Amino acid sequence: MALDMETRHPAACGGLNAGGPREACGVFGVYAPGEDVARLTFYGLYALQHRGQESAGIATSDGAVINLRTGLGLVSQVFEESDLEQLPGHIAIGHTRYSTTGSNRICNAQPILVEGSGGPVAIAHNGNLVNAEALRQRLADDGLQFQTSTDTELITMLLARAEGTWEDRLRRVLPQLHGAFSLVILTPGALTAVRDPLGVRPLCIGRLGPGWVVASETCALDHLGASLVREVEPGEAVIIDRSGMRPFQAVPKIRDAFCIFEHIYFARPDSVVGGQLLQPVRMAMGAELAREHPVDADVVIGVPDSATAAGIGYALESGIPYGEGLIKNRYVGRTFIQPDQRLRERGVNLKFNPLPQVLRDKRVVVVDDSIVRGTTTPRVVQMLRRAGAREIHMRVCAPPIVSPCYFGVDMATKGELIAAQRDVEQIREHIGANSLGFLSIEGLLLAVGRPRARFCMACFTGDYPIPVQLQLDKLAFERPVPSAV
Ligand code: SF4
Repeated sequence: MALDMETRHPAACGGLNAGGPREACGVFGVYAPGEDVARLTFYGLYALQHRGQESAGIATSDGAVINLRTGLGLVSQVFEESDLEQLPGHIAIGHTRYSTTGSNRICNAQPILVEGSGGPVAIAHNGNLVNAEALRQRLADDGLQFQTSTDTELITMLLARAEGTWEDRLRRVLPQLHGAFSLVILTPGALTAVRDPLGVRPLCIGRLGPGWVVASETCALDHLGASLVREVEPGEAVIIDRSGMRPFQAVPKIRDAFCIFEHIYFARPDSVVGGQLLQPVRMAMGAELAREHPVDADVVIGVPDSATAAGIGYALESGIPYGEGLIKNRYVGRTFIQPDQRLRERGVNLKFNPLPQVLRDKRVVVVDDSIVRGTTTPRVVQMLRRAGAREIHMRVCAPPIVSPCYFGVDMATKGELIAAQRDVEQIREHIGANSLGFLSIEGLLLAVGRPRARFCMACFTGDYPIPVQLQLDKLAFERPVPSAV
């Protein structure tokens, strides 16, 4: 049975340098008979572009056949009018991807489509499985061959070969997955949304007329004129088909462990997460930062766009005027997530241009969202000094990052994280600022206004919500899998 399975993809991964499995992504799905679902998905992905800029894909179903189109690049680069015309149907899913480790290859673009004994299954995934190596070995032992180097292919294979009703298959397979997974799944007759039992990554459900939409973030709903119904609960699966929406608890909830970095950085400020609009939450982070780390200064600037709201919050709380001291080229990807160091370093110069009129002879408070490797921040500081800033006081609205993320974000390995190697004074010296202040964990929680028990904060504490086995390894799934004995 298992050997009947085939991943349908335009290209297979080969060699040892293909893209790795770890990613932070955007997922989208729509069930809307009578609508142009490929076009709706295109616009949904467009709104989620900030969650992944390396590849994009859409799969649609007309009730019998699943069609798939994926490509490298931004959503607008991957899809032309003619592509959408070749994606007929009334159900669709889509994906925008970061491969934050290794290189970016077409074979890893999602959705992943597998033809199994139970029919075709296509999946778009945001997150990262921590037991992917064990699952891959098990599937390899059953004689399966992999066309990608993603953990998403493993989930798709497991579901495609499971037996029973669709609900049975979900109930059987989902408990085998450990880690972070917000999934949108396309089968010929249904759209299914799934969230892992920790609820690490966001996933919400909306109504679009008589139809249904699921998306990583509510901003995608807003752009389509859909209304938010609710978030998918941890461990819940929601099947949407011709008989409506059927939610059920597919896996018992373990605990709440929502990624607090979604509040700080990943999600768009116009998205609602856990019932909270993020723009005012980020302003509150800036205000807390001003209370924790006050300084005499002439102007506050936020590193655009992700720290703009926090910068405004700092300015309002401190009484220091806010200014636009850095202009961002909005067509350059986030430096934090580009695939390798060389590009990352080059990216910063492409990304910002300082405004000397705002900065010259000024004592400047610079608010940023995080310091990860400490490669970008010194360049920003240098740039501001070259533009005439007299003093630079760096304020960061995240605590120091001391541990890697195993749940869908490749920030860096532990050895690459500057705060895992150096104390605050050493980091200040490294970045060349006059002073440096990080928001405390307590201050962050005050700004978010939710108890600590609701969140994963492992990158600040090293305290992971579940045991993690998979070491960050760019080539984890690029090596040949030992053959079955
Ligand atoms: S380790 Fe950090 S980035 Fe990863 S899920 Fe937890 S809070 Fe989010």
